This record gives sequence, structure tokens and C-alpha cells, in this order.
Amino acid sequence: MKHEAYDHPAFQLVERVPGLDLALLKADDLLHWGAENSLWIFPMGTSCCAIEFMAAAASRLDMDRFGTIVRGSPRQCDVMVIAGTITVKMAPRVLKLWEQMPEPKWAIAMGSCAISGDFYRDIYSVVPGVDTFMPVDVYVPGCPPSPDALVDGVRRLQEKIRAARAGTPFVREARPEAATMIRPEIKRLSDPDRDPAITQAQCKAVLNMDKGGRETPRS
Ligand code: SF4
Repeated sequence: MKHEAYDHPAFQLVERVPGLDLALLKADDLLHWGAENSLWIFPMGTSCCAIEFMAAAASRLDMDRFGTIVRGSPRQCDVMVIAGTITVKMAPRVLKLWEQMPEPKWAIAMGSCAISGDFYRDIYSVVPGVDTFMPVDVYVPGCPPSPDALVDGVRRLQEKIRAARAGTPFVREARPEAATMIRPEIKRLSDPDRDPAITQAQCKAVLNMDKGGRETPRS
């Protein structure tokens, strides 16, 4: 029986062969299984969490066994894992890479820095959570999250994709509000009450920093 929510030319192909759909039970189940187990991950790793990401992808945990593959080009990927601190200067580049990924696509914020900026959230140059400038579907808290916590996050994403393809609306996870995750003093980039002068000050300071971290006068 053809599934309402997931159309694919392979359905017609399979259904034309007498008895094959019976042999495969339901063709849509097979295609759902293939889709949810074929996630191509773009690792947006910037700091320590990226090391845990590498551990998840390495032989001991072998995240690939759940149907993922890590690729270096956003144009080949449908899942971005943001693993590490994102600075104000870096945010537009991350957004550009996100926009280069084809639809449908999903994002996982891995670690407290990606989720809230964590230790660095009130520093002028740090974005207090990547969901201030791009959508996030799954949050993996921790500093750092263990590699198996990331694998668990990928499995949660797969469950959401499976449910959505079966007709249930896709629901993004809520941003975790743990006691240790204090809301940043600086208004978030998406906050309409944020003073534009803060952004200007951030950009000015970041753009005019020399290699030693000292602000240099603009000529
Ligand atoms: S959450 Fe912790 S481990 Fe991850 S990038 Fe931030 S400081 Fe590093």
C-alpha cells in the first residue's frame, strides 16, 4: 500500500512487479527505513565538543552503523552538527554553510556552548546559542556531551524523521533550560529588544582585534 506522506518513483517500480510488494511487506516501510537511516552529517566543529564528535564517529561507537556518514561538504549533507563555541564573527559563515545544504535538512546543537554560549555567553564576541540565528531540531546538552549522548541525539532525530514521514508533524526539541544554563545577560540576536548598538559594538571589537587580542584603532 502506498504511503500518503512519502512519495517516490520507486513505489511505482516496486508495485509493478507482481508479488514483490508482498515480499517486501510494504514498499513504503522499506523506503522510510532507507531514508531515516541515510543521514549525511556535516560536522560544524569549532572546539572541544568536536573531539567528542570524532569519538562518536570513530570505531568504538561507530555512529555509521546507525546509517550516518560524515562528509566535508555542506552541499552533500542533510544534517549539521554544531559542536563548539560560535563567535559573532563566525555566525554568518555558519549560516551560509547551513543555507548551502539541500532540503530537507536538520540541525543538532551539540554541547552547552552551541546551545547557550555557556561559559562564554556574556563575552562580546560569542553567540549565546546557535538557535539565535538558525533553526535547531535536536539539542544534546553537556560540557562536553559524551559521544554516546551524541549518538542518542542522532537516534532521536531519526525517530522524528520517521514519525514525520509517517504523517506526524515534525516537532523540534525545546531548548534545554537547565539550572546551570542561565539566560545570557546580552539579549540574543533574535530578540527584538536587542539594542543594535550591541551588535555594532561586537562587530567593531571583533573586526578590529589584532593577533594579540588587543583592539586596534580603525584607520
Ligand atoms: S560545551 Fe564544553 S566541551 Fe563543548 S565546546 Fe563548550 S567548553 Fe568545550
